[in-house]
Amino acid sequence: MPPSPYDILFEPVRIGPLMAPNRFYQVPHCTGMGHRYPQAEARLRAIKAEGGWGVVSTQETEIHPSSDLTPANEARLWDARDLPALRLVAEAIHEHGSLAAIQLAHNGLHTANRHSRALPLAPSPAPVDSNDPVQARAMDKADIAAFRRWHREAALRAREAGFDIIYVYAGHDMTLLQHFLLRRHNHRSDEYGGPLENRLRLFREVLTDTRDAVGDSCAIAVRLAVDELLGEAGIRHDGEAREIIEALADEPDLWDVNISDWANDSQSARFSQEGYQEPYTRFVKQVTSKPVVGVGRYTSPDTMARLIRSGHLDLIGAARPSIADPFLPEKIRSDRLEEIRECIGCNICVSGDNTNVPMRCTQNPTIGEEWRRGWHPERVAPLPAPERHLVIGGGPAGLEAALTLMRRGAEVTLAEARGEWGGRVTRESALPGLAAWARLRDGRLWQLRQSARVSLHLESPLAAEDVLELGHTHVAIATGARWRVDGAGRRHRLPLAFLDPARVVGPDALLARGAEAIAAPGPVVIYDDDRFYLASLLAELLALAGREVAFVTPAPVVAPWSEHTLEQARIQKRLIKLDVPLYLSRELAGMGAARLTLACTYSGRREEIACATLVPVTARLPEDGLWQALQARRGEWEEAGIRSVSRVGDCLAPGLIAAAVQSGHAYARAAGSGEKPPLREDYGHVQRI
Ligand code: ADP
Ligand code: SF4
Repeated sequence: MPPSPYDILFEPVRIGPLMAPNRFYQVPHCTGMGHRYPQAEARLRAIKAEGGWGVVSTQETEIHPSSDLTPANEARLWDARDLPALRLVAEAIHEHGSLAAIQLAHNGLHTANRHSRALPLAPSPAPVDSNDPVQARAMDKADIAAFRRWHREAALRAREAGFDIIYVYAGHDMTLLQHFLLRRHNHRSDEYGGPLENRLRLFREVLTDTRDAVGDSCAIAVRLAVDELLGEAGIRHDGEAREIIEALADEPDLWDVNISDWANDSQSARFSQEGYQEPYTRFVKQVTSKPVVGVGRYTSPDTMARLIRSGHLDLIGAARPSIADPFLPEKIRSDRLEEIRECIGCNICVSGDNTNVPMRCTQNPTIGEEWRRGWHPERVAPLPAPERHLVIGGGPAGLEAALTLMRRGAEVTLAEARGEWGGRVTRESALPGLAAWARLRDGRLWQLRQSARVSLHLESPLAAEDVLELGHTHVAIATGARWRVDGAGRRHRLPLAFLDPARVVGPDALLARGAEAIAAPGPVVIYDDDRFYLASLLAELLALAGREVAFVTPAPVVAPWSEHTLEQARIQKRLIKLDVPLYLSRELAGMGAARLTLACTYSGRREEIACATLVPVTARLPEDGLWQALQARRGEWEEAGIRSVSRVGDCLAPGLIAAAVQSGHAYARAAGSGEKPPLREDYGHVQRI
């Protein structure tokens, strides 16, 4: 192969006693699987290794029952009984020649130990950081000695399980070692508290213990938060973080640096651009000669190569980019850059861990399904016979169905009613901060355009008559959904009869035409009973266009589900900064001339606010008219040559974009298998968990 500007990314890197085969480093990240789904965890990591990640890490691994994160599904190494599950993971990573890293963790006051019932441990007495009515107790010298022993034993077991790189972890405001480092958690007056030198003592001791235990054969990595974005109240990259790295400079074999807490480390695209951690991590290589890995949602090979050439990093760290495309390194190596499925920064992956279930990804429908359903991100079985498929609707579900059918060798016709591809993704990507979401459309379209077996048709609204006339063997209806405008949703299960339709503008109108969709002057009220991102974005859009906007929701906070994508606090802060008044725990109770009546969801107490136009963001209805029409003409299918008609995506049941992609993918995977066409809730075959 001729030299490539990306060759530098494929240089081996020495990490202590080991060599990483290249510079692609999958940093520790949660999967929502861990000790509860060990086979699934192992397959997921194996596919990362197969896709070219030179180092593949576990998620955080609880080292002791006093670090019990139940109900979260993290990895676990409480004792030797946990070895088989972790051996599976290490062996799976080694199958493809990658190094296996394990992130040992003790969660200190971050966890209430709900399952083990052990008392949480902390440098000083303090409530745990969840809402559990539990306090951590201050560790005495015997506890400190015990903790050092547990960590040492966990390191030895990790080596026994086959891991190559052992982490000492002080990040995300989640670990005991970081709690000792931070002034706000460590109020001790003994040699483990006070000046940094003392607060650093336990960290240094554990580092030395780990080196003594396994350092002859394993590499020792440190994961350190170098900033918390808290100013003086937290650790700062230009303050104590620098002093810590200077003090320990060459003691670990690798520095894995990031910003804390998790919501800062895994910022979504709505709130940050690729490379958002660079200002905080740039200094690290100046103070250590050991290799440095950092993250920042990197998907661009040019950026990656620049980071190495400029001496910012030695290894490109990735969690989300490796989830969206486990084969990202391999695609760079084999010069298939257009095929990279770039992370869109939506944080749906994060929601898996936060809701204690195996992760899913908007861009990569196979993540989390590698073992359970045997799905591989790059391989799909060819169809037994190349039949003709018609996919109707070019949104996320239709694009994914068409692409996967194409990859299976089908002849595919994709028809879209509008003059543009992408469905809701195209419209939503025009909202403030969501431009990266268009990657979902662009990557798939590029691939579809490469195949002579695919015909793509815009401005082609199909009716039942057209479908019968076309006579394709299989028909997937991916016609999406529309937002309701009648106020019905979670809070009000029936339409609100008092709404004045002349003063209601639905979300679809705003998505299609932007702020101009509201012609009437005067205050706009967004009523959010959807409770995820869209209502807040519409409020932002209107506020940025200079409209007076109020935000009303029956929920006690703005966009509560976005807690799972780590965005809730940022969303609420943004609306506050835009001077959008927030009416929380309020439902709609009446609509008068230029007024809206709200009622407190607890007390029923009423109040009136000014409202010229109401935008209800409550629920969606499937656009399934075409499906209904075809059902009514079922008797004509055979003569037309049609063998199956299925609904996929929002047309079946409106949901996350990730669910629509998954639905389109599942449909295309099942094609030709004789299986019942998979509805979104229908997994098609016996579930193996
Ligand atoms: P999903 O998320 O399920 O993919 P979207 O709403 O994003 O749903 O996309 C559905 C797409 O289907 C839209 O772009 C819409 O214009 C298109 N569509 C709806 N009805 C028809 C039809 N009868 N013929 C062709 N395309 C249609
Ligand atoms: Fe990226 Fe979204 Fe996939 Fe997470 S779910 S990896 S943020 S595309």
